[in-house]
Amino acid sequence: MTVAKRIDGKAKAAELAESISRETAALLKEHGVTPGLAVVIIGEDPASQVYVRNKKRTAESCGFHSVQHTLPENVSQPDVLQLINELNNDDAIHGILVQLPLPDHLNEQAITQAIAPSKDVDGFHFVNIGKLTAGHTSDAFVPCTPAGCMLMIEDELGSDLSGKNAVVIGRSNIVGKPMASLLLQANATVTVTHSRTRNLPQVVAGADIIVAAVGRADMVKADWVKPGAVIIDVGINRVEKTIDGETRMVLTGDVDFDDVSTVAGAVTPVPGGVGPMTITMLMANTLRSARLAAGLVA
Ligand code: NAD
Repeated sequence: MTVAKRIDGKAKAAELAESISRETAALLKEHGVTPGLAVVIIGEDPASQVYVRNKKRTAESCGFHSVQHTLPENVSQPDVLQLINELNNDDAIHGILVQLPLPDHLNEQAITQAIAPSKDVDGFHFVNIGKLTAGHTSDAFVPCTPAGCMLMIEDELGSDLSGKNAVVIGRSNIVGKPMASLLLQANATVTVTHSRTRNLPQVVAGADIIVAAVGRADMVKADWVKPGAVIIDVGINRVEKTIDGETRMVLTGDVDFDDVSTVAGAVTPVPGGVGPMTITMLMANTLRSARLAAGLVA
């Protein structure tokens, strides 16, 4: 018996993208400014190419100036840094994104930290991480995936999470840690769990909000879940599944959707949940950066 609501991230992302397009048109009409997003992709990683294509397509559909720099797998660190320096100084560009992962010979930290904090629409610069951690979310660029998760949580539970227990599974810098900061900022009582956590199902069982960002297919089961909990599934896993006698590769999350749906209050699906929201939040951050550069309140 299914009880949980299926949170439609795709529909919410489309709605948000529409309002971003409207605001973009108004920004051009009233202030002569078009948000500019530069995406840098290095090498041939097929998943990265799909992500970059989607980001470019969404940026263009929002009316942005969209630029893609495709660099060869063997590009040198100084050449990457030089490109970032040029983009930092290009007034037509308001957001810079370097698609991760990078080839092994490149220093990921030096590259992400070379992006000007005011154009760091991924929210990976230490200045933005510091602002988020210190609760200065009004002038920080918040990483896109947790920012999108937070909007979906707010839709279900409101913006004040006082008295709610939230359990984040995963402690990465791009999802788990910033997610915990946002939940804490919204007054939730937050527990961050990870690969060294003992008795994970027991810890998760106390949660009103579960955010799973691990990378292990269908890990969270119904018997981990408190009745009525809101579950946000960040995981993207490619697994073989047999459907109607046919075996093929499918995408699945970290949460066993059908199983937890018998207990939870609301769950995001994979695909169609967090993924589309992540891309839209990138557009929201870029628009905000363009507004700030034009001297407007974000
Ligand atoms: P990561 O590999 O950097 O971090 C994974 C985290 O999971 C680590 O903190 C680790 O301690 C924890 N972990 C590993 N095994 C565990 C276990 N058995 N029990 C509890 N915790 C465990 O990954 P990430 O970059 O945070 O991404 C996590 C997942 O989210 C991946 O599947 C990734 O593809 C997906 N993702 C999706 C989006 C999106 O837009 N939908 C964005 C980013 C990441």
